[in-house]
Amino acid sequence: MSNEQLDQLRDQLDEVNLKLLDLINERARLAQEIGQVKRKAGQNRFDPVRERKMLDLIAENNKGPFETSTLQHLFKQIFKASLELQEDDNSKSLLVSRKKHPEDTVVDLKGEKVGNSEQKLVAGPCSVESYEQVYEVAKAMKDQGLRLLRGGAYKPRTSPYDFQGLGQEGLEILKRVGDELDMVTISEIVSPKDVENALEYIDVIQVGARNMQNFELLKEVGAVNKPVLLKRGMSATMDEFVKAAEYIHANGNSEIMLCERGIRTYENATRNTLDISAVPVLKQETHLPVMVDVTHSTGRRDLLLPTAKAAFAIGADAVMTEVHPDPAVALSDSAQQMDIPTFDDFLGSLREAGLFKG
Ligand code: PEP
Ligand code: MN
Repeated sequence: MSNEQLDQLRDQLDEVNLKLLDLINERARLAQEIGQVKRKAGQNRFDPVRERKMLDLIAENNKGPFETSTLQHLFKQIFKASLELQEDDNSKSLLVSRKKHPEDTVVDLKGEKVGNSEQKLVAGPCSVESYEQVYEVAKAMKDQGLRLLRGGAYKPRTSPYDFQGLGQEGLEILKRVGDELDMVTISEIVSPKDVENALEYIDVIQVGARNMQNFELLKEVGAVNKPVLLKRGMSATMDEFVKAAEYIHANGNSEIMLCERGIRTYENATRNTLDISAVPVLKQETHLPVMVDVTHSTGRRDLLLPTAKAAFAIGADAVMTEVHPDPAVALSDSAQQMDIPTFDDFLGSLREAGLFKG
């Protein structure tokens, strides 16, 4: 074969490649349109019956020289890429994504704004144990000019024999202290059936790490008119975390705050591993406020200050930490809560470092 002949054949091949390119993209556009029609109709993107028919059509019309199985393999790749294209379209249009909504969401909690440029501090006991206990912590916070009070009434505990929280009584204590000291109360709800009742008692519903993918709970808190603090699951990827927030938004509630609280890794020097880069990732990917819970991230009192500094420095909208009047006798998370003088020092150090202005 002369060089000339080879060049000619290669030119022809290039032409066919370009035709294939056009055809593949034409196919992709059609697949996208089909995806939109299916989304509107609430149908699944992947339809195995339809895919089988397309593969059969290829088998019936194959005149060679390729083997049918080879062609079916190639076409399966094209089908798969088209499905992925539809998926990308979906994530571009997530309600919580910054692409969809470039401006920051600011959640207004009785006048305390989370998500604007002022960084906030959330504090309070791990568990609500008594009126006096919550009041003492809230009063110390109030004296420091802080209003965002956390406290667990329903506690998701690893062991069924551990303190499970005061439940309804805990909610009542939070309401009483909240009213008396004009605090904003945040408390975890673990069951969809308790959401409606909680609306009367607390200002923010927390969905805990263990429930980040409790989709029925997410739908329930998505359907109410109350801000939600969503914590990252212990093994959740950013994508899973963002999609959990999407469940809440898609059900009608756009007042969502995200909270990084450490993830499970092989490291056991800390209770969890604080994924500090989650903060800028979530700020880039979503328009929601992002908080860092330094207590559950580290499980170590001596690491609360340095991790809080890191969280503020990296741009977290708020830091959460646990404070108890007497941590040694706390009914949960005894090792990691700060007592009130330690909390005052913690705040003083953050302010001195210029990292917390609240
Ligand atoms: C909590 O904040 O009380 C709590 C249980 O945290 P997490 O869900 O992050 O473990
Ligand atoms: Mn705790």
